Amino acid sequence: DRNMMLPRIRQLDEAATNRIAAGEVVERPASAVKELVENALDARARRISVEIADGGRTLIRVTDDGHGIDADDLELALSRHATSKIDGSDLLNIHTFGFRGEALPSLGAVGRLTITSRAEGASEAAQIQVSGGRIAPPRPAALRAGTVVELRDLFHATPARLKFLKSERSEAMAVTDALRRLAMAEPGVAFTLRDVSDGGDRVLFRADAASDRAERLAAIIGRDFGANSLTLEAERDGVRLSGQAALPTYSRGNAVHQYLFVNGRPVRDRMLTGALRGAYMDVLAKDRHAVAALYLDCDPVLVDCNVHPAKTEVRFRDAGVVRGLIVAGVRHALAEAGHRASTTVAD
Ligand code: ADP
Ligand code: MG
Repeated sequence: DRNMMLPRIRQLDEAATNRIAAGEVVERPASAVKELVENALDARARRISVEIADGGRTLIRVTDDGHGIDADDLELALSRHATSKIDGSDLLNIHTFGFRGEALPSLGAVGRLTITSRAEGASEAAQIQVSGGRIAPPRPAALRAGTVVELRDLFHATPARLKFLKSERSEAMAVTDALRRLAMAEPGVAFTLRDVSDGGDRVLFRADAASDRAERLAAIIGRDFGANSLTLEAERDGVRLSGQAALPTYSRGNAVHQYLFVNGRPVRDRMLTGALRGAYMDVLAKDRHAVAALYLDCDPVLVDCNVHPAKTEVRFRDAGVVRGLIVAGVRHALAEAGHRASTTVAD
């Protein structure tokens, strides 16, 4: 009978959808750290401490002094598309790192997740645990303030993913890089990253609360970055460029110190790095890479940060304008400093 052949449609359960979403949100330990630190920043934390073991594979622990989560909301925090950050009515006006409500349920689907939190003004803390998508009911816990999120055994249930992780060292480096970028986005917040593998305790990254962006950039890129870089200030068709771009003499053999931010969010974007390369084209040898931190700000209607769940890709309404702004802005600054490019400087 033909019913036997007909594939029927069914709704997947939450555990399955979380596992599917996790594939996009959590690629490696660094992506988990990024999500957890963004949550801490969204909770207005002033100090964020990250501990990892085995490159983040066996342990990631993020401790913050932010506003915490109400004990009654802990379970909801683990459910998909549940967020305190937007109400869904205005997706263009987003001022937080998160808004999709996907990180915690995804992490709970691919690791053993424990959240301990004490909401501002609450008389006690509460803790909730989820492993393999199964949630244990919340219970009282001891914590003075803020939130501690602990993720153990990332990808323990998905050996295929586990196999694709790189060496402990390169995973730890990716974690450091993710944290460095967030630290450059939020200069006033203090960050530490420690490797606690095998009962040890080694500082991998540290940034004390800085009083401004320049101080934070110097702390991360190098004490001499300020003296060897130019301040950028340019605007075109509603997009504003600020930040610092190094003199050609301060270039590097790789692109590690190229940082891009769009509306306060660290991003990776081929078009933007291409524009930076274009800006230095006449003053840098082919095998040299510019050192720069570029901050772009514009009306959210001009840029879509929602291209991918990890939100590190962006799409500008007019990419040409942004490209032109970067090329002209950097060239103009270089020209003012006497590094006149051989082509005419476009304004
Ligand atoms: P999103 O960040 O997109 O809202 P998440 O799954 O990352 O989604 O987090 C779900 C909710 O849990 C957040 O909206 C927030 O209310 C709460 N939350 C998560 N982490 C923290 C934290 N460190 N401090 C306070 N609240 C948090
Ligand atoms: Mg989040």
